[in-house]
Amino acid sequence: MKLIFLGPPGAGKGTQAVKIAARFGIAHISTGDMLRAEIREGTELGNAAKSLIDRGELVPDDVILGMVKNRIQREDCKNGFLFDGFPRTIAQAEALEAISAIDHVINLDVPVERLISRISGRRMCPDCGAAYHVSTRESGACDCGATLYQRDDDKEETVRNRLVVYERSTKPLIDYYAGKGLLHTISGDADIDTVDARIREVISK
Ligand code: AMP
Repeated sequence: MKLIFLGPPGAGKGTQAVKIAARFGIAHISTGDMLRAEIREGTELGNAAKSLIDRGELVPDDVILGMVKNRIQREDCKNGFLFDGFPRTIAQAEALEAISAIDHVINLDVPVERLISRISGRRMCPDCGAAYHVSTRESGACDCGATLYQRDDDKEETVRNRLVVYERSTKPLIDYYAGKGLLHTISGDADIDTVDARIREVISK
């Protein structure tokens, strides 16, 4: 099974992707997580990507495509994979089409005014990648024990630019995949388990 999760920042792609990938035994491929790992390791790619990410801009298509092509060769992708945050441009989608067929594209739809509060309250675990919201995690600690942090690009000013970039570069993918008959739009404005059930229903059909 090969899936794409589409949607604006804060739609819940990462949260849902973890659940669906585990349930179907497929690899969860988050290009954002891959880039953050490169930054943490201080690689040349990570250093070049950091300033773009911190400004809420996209990393160039050729860099992303190079990472993705390598990633899908790995053993854990043999049953399939779920792209979270990729593709983000029409050029990326066209390049993906040349290397792999996709079964379903899930578009998580959440009203814009909800996105800002979701992202600016988001706190991440540096160890296991889990995401929480400040309103429900006053302790500031992850279930795994690590201290949560706020992503630099989750600050409100950057979030606003990420939404502009989404509208300009990524939203056109909705029509692109609708035209190919692959798109399923699901409301992501509900609790985590409800959205998970909606996604499972669509991809199990
Ligand atoms: P995410 O964790 O998916 O929100 O990604 C964080 C940031 O990484 C984005 O705001 C972009 O700067 C960069 N990024 C992640 N995936 C891509 C992609 N497919 N194309 C370009 N930039 C990306």
